[in-house]
Amino acid sequence: MRAPISDLPLVLDDVSLQAGATVILSRLSLTITPGAPTLIVGPNGAGKTSLLRLCMGLAAPSAGRVTWGGRTDRAPLRRAILFQRPVMLRRTTAANVAYALAIEEISRGCASVGVTLSVNNSLYCDPLLKYGTDAQKERWLKPFAAGEKLGCFGLTEPQAGSDAAEQRTTAVRRGDKYVVNGTKNWITNGPVADAMVLFTMTDLSKGTKGITAFVVDTGTPGFLRQKSDEKLGICASPSCTIFFENMEVPVANRLGQEGEGFKIAMSTLDGGRIGIAAQAIGIGMAAFEEARDYAKLRKTFDVPIAQHQAIQFMLADMITELEAARLLTLRAASLKDSGARHSRESSMAKLYASEAANRVADKAVQIHGGMGYSKELDVERHFRDARITEIYEGTSEIQRLVISNALLK
Ligand SMILES: Cc1cc2nc3c(=O)[nH]c(=O)nc-3n(C[C@H](O)[C@H](O)[C@H](O)COP(=O)(O)OP(=O)(O)OC[C@H]3O[C@@H](n4cnc5c(N)ncnc54)[C@H](O)[C@@H]3O)c2cc1C
Repeated sequence: MRAPISDLPLVLDDVSLQAGATVILSRLSLTITPGAPTLIVGPNGAGKTSLLRLCMGLAAPSAGRVTWGGRTDRAPLRRAILFQRPVMLRRTTAANVAYALAIEEISRGCASVGVTLSVNNSLYCDPLLKYGTDAQKERWLKPFAAGEKLGCFGLTEPQAGSDAAEQRTTAVRRGDKYVVNGTKNWITNGPVADAMVLFTMTDLSKGTKGITAFVVDTGTPGFLRQKSDEKLGICASPSCTIFFENMEVPVANRLGQEGEGFKIAMSTLDGGRIGIAAQAIGIGMAAFEEARDYAKLRKTFDVPIAQHQAIQFMLADMITELEAARLLTLRAASLKDSGARHSRESSMAKLYASEAANRVADKAVQIHGGMGYSKELDVERHFRDARITEIYEGTSEIQRLVISNALLK
């Protein structure tokens, strides 16, 4: 029987830590808070065994098969979300590096839990942290960073995916309220979220300067969730289309000024892409490790397939790409920690990590031969889960646009 998450000891390099102890891992220092689960990871990945074990216990056994089907059993997610709290609120000098490593490890266990946390943390909490007033932070950030509530991010519309400036959801000011009408689609966490960071048009004539952001309670009349999307992968990550019909949002819920929405969306995605890069590396690492272990066991022509040079070279390429992806991702995270601009670096990390994860998952299936095509093993799930990382939070083509625009300025 699996121990409840709260009962598992926090383990770092096989040393159990006491509450109140401070862990110093080269560039990262975290204090273990009595009574609160504390994330322990270092820039070199130290401590990840315990985190991985927690995540595997949390989600992996059924991760590929879980669908939400309208259920709102959030207990496993809530336990996982607790792990983001020290990163969100403590603001250590390496918060984003630790966060990237955590999302990698969580995604190694379950990519769906990885993106659930990444969306709540990077796309919902981060803009509130950066642009919210004190009153907004109290109500709309604290419970979401503490794992009590779950947030989502509403930017995409049927005609506004890669071209996010094509927003058609409108917010019309009426006294101390705005009246919102429109549609958002592909909203991760949408079926179960408590609040949304929502992007709307307050002035259609001004293009991107007419976009305004709000934070919205999903229980507001006129916030209409549609049925959950059926997807190729990340099947335990709920997403859906949401219609807004004459939804009234108080002026106090506006995030930033009118017209600042596009800037908020783009700067939020700069951070979000670090999370998706980390998610891709986690998926790739799981696929790599399963392929490596299988290669040692499976025999053909009287020897383990790991002794065939063709397999050895595939494994060498897989781990080299993943480690390169991790370095790019940690560089972007470290720039974010230092407060420096990181759009180009986040795009590079997301582009490379997502494409590497797909190449790695493809090779992992190949190394498994026929078994790689079977639903009996997790490797087919990693293959399906990897695909989305090249699409959401900007496709690979959009990342190439961001990088080349920065180069050619
Ligand atoms: C599972 C899932 C979860 C998601 N979660 C969220 C969420 O939580 N919140 C949210 O707001 N959105 C979310 N999205 C939306 C996601 O960000 C968009 O799907 C993505 O940005 C691509 O937009 P699109 O689907 O409209 O594709 P399109 O923009 O129609 O692109 C189609 C193709 O054309 C290419 N293309 C487009 N423009 C160019 C160009 N200028 N140059 C070269 N190629 C180009 C694209 O790269 C792509 O290959 C999610 C999507 C999925 C599938």
